[in-house]
Amino acid sequence: MPFARLVEAADALAATRSRTAKTEVLAGLLRALSPEESEAAVGLLLGSIRQGSIGLGYRTVLGARDAATPADAPTLTVGDVDAVLDEIAGLSGSGSVGTRHAALVSLFERATEAEQEHLVRALTGEMRTGALEGVLTDGLAKAVGLPLADVRRAVMLSGSLSGTVRLALSSPEALEGVGLGVLTPVQPMLASTAADVTAALLVTGEASVEHKLDGARIQVHRSGSEVRVYTRSLADVTSRVPEIVEVARALPVESVILDGETLMLDDDGSPRPFQDTMSRFGADESREQVLAPRFFDVLHVDGEDLIDRPLAERLAVLERIGPAYRIAGEVTADPEVALRVSQDALAAGHEGVMVKAIDSTYAAGRRGKHWVKVKPVHTYDLVVLGVERGSGRRKGWLSNLHLGARDPEGEFGPEGGFVMVGKTFKGLTDELLRWQSETFPEYEVSDNGWALMMRPEVVVEVAIDGVQRSSRYPGGVALRFARVKRYRVGADAKPAAEADTIQSLRTMLR
Ligand code: AMP
Repeated sequence: MPFARLVEAADALAATRSRTAKTEVLAGLLRALSPEESEAAVGLLLGSIRQGSIGLGYRTVLGARDAATPADAPTLTVGDVDAVLDEIAGLSGSGSVGTRHAALVSLFERATEAEQEHLVRALTGEMRTGALEGVLTDGLAKAVGLPLADVRRAVMLSGSLSGTVRLALSSPEALEGVGLGVLTPVQPMLASTAADVTAALLVTGEASVEHKLDGARIQVHRSGSEVRVYTRSLADVTSRVPEIVEVARALPVESVILDGETLMLDDDGSPRPFQDTMSRFGADESREQVLAPRFFDVLHVDGEDLIDRPLAERLAVLERIGPAYRIAGEVTADPEVALRVSQDALAAGHEGVMVKAIDSTYAAGRRGKHWVKVKPVHTYDLVVLGVERGSGRRKGWLSNLHLGARDPEGEFGPEGGFVMVGKTFKGLTDELLRWQSETFPEYEVSDNGWALMMRPEVVVEVAIDGVQRSSRYPGGVALRFARVKRYRVGADAKPAAEADTIQSLRTMLR
């Protein structure tokens, strides 16, 4: 496919807000792709290239673009661009910086101005917001004439959108056969938020009200004696957590996929602070502290997929195979009972509760109304948009954070962008200040001496007392007393596309 055809489609997508129109554009584009070039094309379209992270920072890309004269007429194909990126991905060692620059400059020389512009955005991750992925799934269903639900499901279960596009284009019937694969991680189910248990129960109806533990999410797969442990972002951490592997091996099953949380416990069974869990989870050594796995769901057992069974059935399976590792909870529709469970959870040192519709299926990768979290302290996952240089005690450090909420509908700017809602340097320990001072320059988009503006990719969890109306910030709301709880990077990484939205912050305006 001509690269210009892809750029044209990207421009058409940016020019309309209508989902139907976007779906049409994408279906047209996908129909014109061959299966072989489809993965490269999807990566270039979504700004998340097939080659992954290949060390192309903003400055490198812009430097190469500025050194190249654009071509007058388009000649590049998607395959050409992909081949250059493959070549760059294969470079390493001394001298590779110069070779990479030369390869990029020559790529930009072959591109027209419009193609150059698209390449800059695709290579620097500027459009990696996740906003297009849902519509691309719609477009694929349309292009191959399959029900949307089947396509969505294949994406979630295979964990790969571009892989699903390729499979669908080469043999659409094969999509139906995509099921859970033991030892292949699947996108985890996500939760929405409610202010209290009564509001949560109104959404779910009868529910399993469970303690919400403040650890790190784990997905544990076992087939025979082989065990794999994955994080929330589906990274394989098996080698770091032998104690969890051991627990999984001892369960009375042949094969299983479990969803749960891991954390460090004190001798009396109470949870240790989140920081302790994370430092142990992220480390390869210092095994003296033991991580306890706790499970809240089971997706597969002994050859049978359970994701389409109601939660009640899945919990019964969990009770049968691993009662000692279940997270405490009660099934109820009564707000008073739910409140008691919530108070017990807090008294035991946990974060709050999860309220889960008892008849709901496991919706991999989706944030819906079936799982609702209730936490007494309001915490939100926001995106760092920039950081100011510190003064006084914080001189020499990157300190005050500019915080953004997700704006999926593009109410305040480009669709899938972020809107600023406040600033904070509260809660930043010396360790965090040092970490962000070292790391944030990698995300730099511009620097005016006073502050760095950053690509919106780092997610930070902040606690707030609430929000207030604001005429200063474009979204009309400002955070009150924001303080940093933790960064959601590394083993507990949360992508910016899953950060909290401006709409969810607005619901707190009274
Ligand atoms: P959040 O990350 O704030 O959106 O909350 C969802 C996370 O809570 C999940 O990804 C799990 O890591 C964690 N969690 C703790 N306890 C539970 C539970 N009982 N059920 C589901 N998720 C839980």
